[in-house]
Amino acid sequence: MIFLKTEDEIELLRQANLLIGRTLAELAKIIKPGVTTLELDKVAEEFICDNGAIPTFKGFPNPFGGPFPASICTSVNDVVVHGIPNNVPLKDGDIVSIDCGTKLNGFCGDSCYTFLVGEVSEEIRQLCKVTKEALYLGIEQAVVGHRLGDIGYAVENHCTSHSYGVVREFVGHGVGREMHEDPQVPNYGKRGTGTMLKKGLCIAIEPMITLGARQVTMDSDRWTIRTRDGKPAAHYEHSLAVRQGKADVLSSFEEIEKVLGDKAI
Ligand code: MG
Ligand code: MG
Repeated sequence: MIFLKTEDEIELLRQANLLIGRTLAELAKIIKPGVTTLELDKVAEEFICDNGAIPTFKGFPNPFGGPFPASICTSVNDVVVHGIPNNVPLKDGDIVSIDCGTKLNGFCGDSCYTFLVGEVSEEIRQLCKVTKEALYLGIEQAVVGHRLGDIGYAVENHCTSHSYGVVREFVGHGVGREMHEDPQVPNYGKRGTGTMLKKGLCIAIEPMITLGARQVTMDSDRWTIRTRDGKPAAHYEHSLAVRQGKADVLSSFEEIEKVLGDKAI
């Protein structure tokens, strides 16, 4: 069931989502070779809680195993999504996607950014750049009167034109009082097909794009999703409200990219 949001509800969603941008900006300040993803998790959790919100990922149930043990997902290199923070130091040339969820005043935020660690190869920088471009091309389609397939097509077309893989097992979603609501928002599709987009529909668009083949596999921890061929993957996510003419992006990369300065891609 799809819940369309009122303007008041959209403002609450915006507050929860802007907090994620600020949280990820705090992490942007400290991401460098040598830092561990567990250290990043601690900073994120404290920042979210200090701002009166709940980290929604922590304790998130898993149909296949135990609940998620941390406040952020940290997916390094060939990990596509749902990486569990650990004590392995990040290395020069790594990429780490950090997915973050908050609940503030009863509404959820969900946004993700892939960070470069030190000097990253041009090939992998390009993967990140194209994935972020695909996110914004998807967002351009999230307007009243279009359909979900228009979003998926825009994301997929841009990534396949660069010969990248588009992960199909995980998708974007509605966002509201729950982090994952209907409808599902795939990163692939046919133009003019699928659910019609209406004013007040709030969704997260989140392309998960691979340098090699799109196939993925799950680790024995029942969370970590990796590319089957071991090649890296990038992941960017915004939450937004569908509007007439132009989507209203509720999350923000502005604070993150202010910290990154000319290192932002
Ligand atoms: Mg997310
Ligand atoms: Mg999401």
